[in-house]
Amino acid sequence: MKTELERDLLKIFPEIFGVTGSDPEDYLWGIDCGDGWWFLIYSLCRELQVHVDRAGVDQIVACQIKQKMGILRCAFSTTDEYSQGVIAAVVAMSYGVCEMCGNKGQLARGKKGYVRVLCPSCRAANPD
Ligand SMILES: [Zn+2]
Repeated sequence: MKTELERDLLKIFPEIFGVTGSDPEDYLWGIDCGDGWWFLIYSLCRELQVHVDRAGVDQIVACQIKQKMGILRCAFSTTDEYSQGVIAAVVAMSYGVCEMCGNKGQLARGKKGYVRVLCPSCRAANPD
């Protein structure tokens, strides 16, 4: 994911990303997936933070967010049943969202065997 997109997530959800200093720049950790999933990750973080704020549960902190085997994988600290449900729903949505552009996509194997969720035009531009 582009640095500026990740920077936006850190600015919007400092608690989720464990930003405690004044400069979010120090906390960039390289979300390892395409830009097309930005909104999925944004929606996920938003739901989790709203849950923390409303239910008064322990702060949920992101440990890992990446693409693995073609779909979104993420790990968070201190999740409860509700937040696990939210995470599972967003991960399930990643099966249908192009990782590169965010349009409707499909999970498929490329010519070199990489499994990714891509829309037809991103697939044509990235056949591997
Ligand atoms: Zn696409």
